[in-house]
Amino acid sequence: MGLIVQKFGGTSVANAERIKAAAKRIVDTYNAGNKVIVVVSARGQTTDELIDLAYEIMDNPSTREMDMLMSTGEQISIALVAMAIHAMGYPAVSFTGGQVGIVTDSSHTKARIKNINTQRMQKELDKGTIIIVAGFQGIDANENITTLGRGGSDTTAVALAAIMKADRCEIFTDVDGIYTADPRKVPHARKLDKVSYDEILELASLGAQVMHSRSIEFAKKYNVPLYVRSSFNTNEGTLICKEVGEMENIVVSGVAISKDDAKITIRAIPDVPGQAAKIFHEIAGKNINVDMIIQNASIEGRADVTFTVPRIDLRLALETAEKIRKDLNAKEVLHDSKIAKLSAVGIGMRSHCGVAEKMFSALAKEKINIQMISTSEIKISCVIDEAHADRALRTIHTAFGLDKVENAEVAKI
Ligand code: ASP
Ligand code: MG
Repeated sequence: MGLIVQKFGGTSVANAERIKAAAKRIVDTYNAGNKVIVVVSARGQTTDELIDLAYEIMDNPSTREMDMLMSTGEQISIALVAMAIHAMGYPAVSFTGGQVGIVTDSSHTKARIKNINTQRMQKELDKGTIIIVAGFQGIDANENITTLGRGGSDTTAVALAAIMKADRCEIFTDVDGIYTADPRKVPHARKLDKVSYDEILELASLGAQVMHSRSIEFAKKYNVPLYVRSSFNTNEGTLICKEVGEMENIVVSGVAISKDDAKITIRAIPDVPGQAAKIFHEIAGKNINVDMIIQNASIEGRADVTFTVPRIDLRLALETAEKIRKDLNAKEVLHDSKIAKLSAVGIGMRSHCGVAEKMFSALAKEKINIQMISTSEIKISCVIDEAHADRALRTIHTAFGLDKVENAEVAKI
């Protein structure tokens, strides 16, 4: 007998029929002799619809009210899932994040969990009740409702699994597991049996919308193995766990593309010490996350600095860059929001060489220009023109030998 946390994403509870199917899986797990904590997301596109509605009312709603609004989506789901379990004749009780003691900081719409009070959950589990918790939400010290950022239900599930010392955390979703690339963009993508936290962290932040990044950080920190699987079938899913020796043999585990960034260049900055510090101090002061940065070698005492920022922050970043340009007496500010970041990730990169070369040659053969390059121990990213995004993704997927076997043969001919 163990304790199992099961998380059902939005598509897995989209309508009554799916809610009943989820309830059946929960009850099966319970009947196998386990205690069960369930975390659910808002049904289908509910969260997006709520956000759209808010913007129909006003352009910049307060983040506190956004949290009040967005958190309602999950509340609908928990009640319905609890009812579906009752309908099968089993005990279940639903709780909001606040009720179950998930306390966060006060950063509305991107709050971080600070602590979780386990008493109420423990009491219900001891009674043999199945607990259904609203994902993505908590309360701050003043009892304001907060949310954890889009996709945050994963984080709720992992946090509960960690604090309750669950034996397993199962993530039920609309895909069979984690693939070498997004199968909607790369038809020959393969499902991975096992992948490390570090690889998933890179892939998730690179636009492979597998799981909420925070949830993986949490899982890594507390060593919670995650099993990602489909709620629509009983196929084997993907296990996300800490790195084990055999993983080193796989040079590239997955490739991803993200179109979430924009590029800004500040041209002809006088090349004296302290300039980069000034630029990124200003940008950080506006709470804008910078990802890639390049500075070219200076020509005639002036250098260009190019960096990427989230597209949603482009307007603010440009205003800030313009101010910096004036302060530093630089020439001009250029920008491009039609870029895509293409990345290859794999733990084996640490011990194999020639990986970057393979990616660059594959792109060169396709005549795709590389605008920026950055690397980490287990990742290579290139910024390219957004127009080539999906073709570039398929190209490197094939180049790294990730295609399903049938296709690899086709590729050879
Ligand atoms: N409902 C929230 C969202 O759509 C949280 C989640 O699905 O995990 O972002
Ligand atoms: Mg969702």
